Amino acid sequence: MSRTYTIIADHREGTLRQVTLEALQAAQIASLEGDRITAIIMGTQLESLAEELAAYPLSDIHLIEHDSLQHYNAEAYLSALFGVFDTVRPDAVFIGHTAVGRDLAPAIAARLHAGQMSDVTSIERSGAKIMFTRPLHAGKAFEKKVFADFPWVVTVRPNNIPAAQASGGQQAQVVRTTYSPTPSLRSVVKDVVLKTSGKVDLTEAKIVVSGGRGVKSADGFKPLEELAEVLNGAVGASRGACDAGYCDYALQIGQTGKVVTPEIYIACGISGAIQHLAGMSQSRIIIAINKDPEAPIIKTADYSIVGDLFQVVPLLTQEFRNVLK
Ligand SMILES: Cc1cc2nc3c(=O)[nH]c(=O)nc-3n(C[C@H](O)[C@H](O)[C@H](O)COP(=O)(O)OP(=O)(O)OC[C@H]3O[C@@H](n4cnc5c(N)ncnc54)[C@H](O)[C@@H]3O)c2cc1C
Repeated sequence: MSRTYTIIADHREGTLRQVTLEALQAAQIASLEGDRITAIIMGTQLESLAEELAAYPLSDIHLIEHDSLQHYNAEAYLSALFGVFDTVRPDAVFIGHTAVGRDLAPAIAARLHAGQMSDVTSIERSGAKIMFTRPLHAGKAFEKKVFADFPWVVTVRPNNIPAAQASGGQQAQVVRTTYSPTPSLRSVVKDVVLKTSGKVDLTEAKIVVSGGRGVKSADGFKPLEELAEVLNGAVGASRGACDAGYCDYALQIGQTGKVVTPEIYIACGISGAIQHLAGMSQSRIIIAINKDPEAPIIKTADYSIVGDLFQVVPLLTQEFRNVLK
C-alpha cells in the first residue's frame, strides 16, 4: 500500500527555512518506492518559494496563498491546511520543530487522529520499521521510538538531519488551492515586530557566537556580533546576559530559551550553568572563551581558550577575516 508523506514548508521573509529541506530528507528516509512526498506552502507571494521547492524530489507542491496567511496565525493556517488535507490525504506529516511547527503539530495530529512525536533528531528505516530518535532530559539521554500505526505527525529539530538535495530531474507539479477564510477568525495578526536583526536564524545557524554576563554590557556584544558576521553565524546569549539587560531575551539559549545544535558553538564569558547547557550541549563542537580555567563550561567544551574575551574575540575575528576572504 503506497503512502503519502507530507511536509509543511516553513519560510521566512521569502526564503525557505533550511529545516524544510531537513523535513523533506526525513520524508525521503521514511518513504518507500511508490510512496508520494508532497509539500504544502502557505502565505503570500509564494511563487519563488514554489519554484525553489520544485527542484526537489516531490510529487506535488500545494500552494495556499491568501492575505490572511501573510503572518502566522494558528487558526487561519489550520483551517487552510485542513482544507487541503481533503485532497492530499497525508499518512504522515513532517514539519520543523520551530515556533510554528511546535504550534501546528499537535492540532494537526488531533485532526488526523494521528500519533505525534516532537523534536526528532534522526530517523532510520529498516524494513517496515521507521525508527525515530529524540532527546530527553535536555539532551542527557535519547529515546528511540516507533509509531504503532499510521497516520502520524513528526516535528524535526533543525540542524540534525541533513538537508535534502535538489534532484535536478523532473519538476514537481505545483497545485494552487483556493482558500476562503471563515469570516469569523477569532484573532488577526496585524504586524510582526522582529526583535532580532541577524541575517541568520539562531536555531538554524551553523555557527553560534554566544555571550554571557562576562560581556559586561550591551556594547560588549559588539565584538561577538562582528565575529558572528565574519563566520556567517548568529549571536546567542545566556540568561545571565539577558537578565542583565545586555541583549534581548530573543537571544536566550538554554532550558528556558532556545535549543540550538550548530556545527560550532562559541561560548564567550558564559560560566556553563546546567540550564544553559540544556540549550547547547548537543552542538557538534563547543569552544569556550573564559578567563576562569575552573568555569564549568571548560569541562563541557571541546576546545577552550582561557583568557579575556575582549582580547580573544577580536583576534579570532581578524584571523577568520584573513583566512575566509
Ligand atoms: C529555572 C531556571 C531556568 C534557567 N534557564 C536558563 C536558560 O535558559 N539559559 C541560561 O543561560 N541560563 C538559565 N538559567 C540561569 C543559569 O542558572 C545561570 O544563572 C546563567 O546561565 C548564568 O549566565 P552566565 O554564564 O552568563 O553568567 P555567570 O554565571 O555570571 O558567568 C559569567 C562568566 O563569564 C566569565 N567572564 C567574566 N568576564 C570575562 C572576560 N572578560 N572574558 C572571559 N570570560 C569572562 C566568568 O569567568 C564566568 O564564567 C536558569 C536558571 C533557572 C533557575
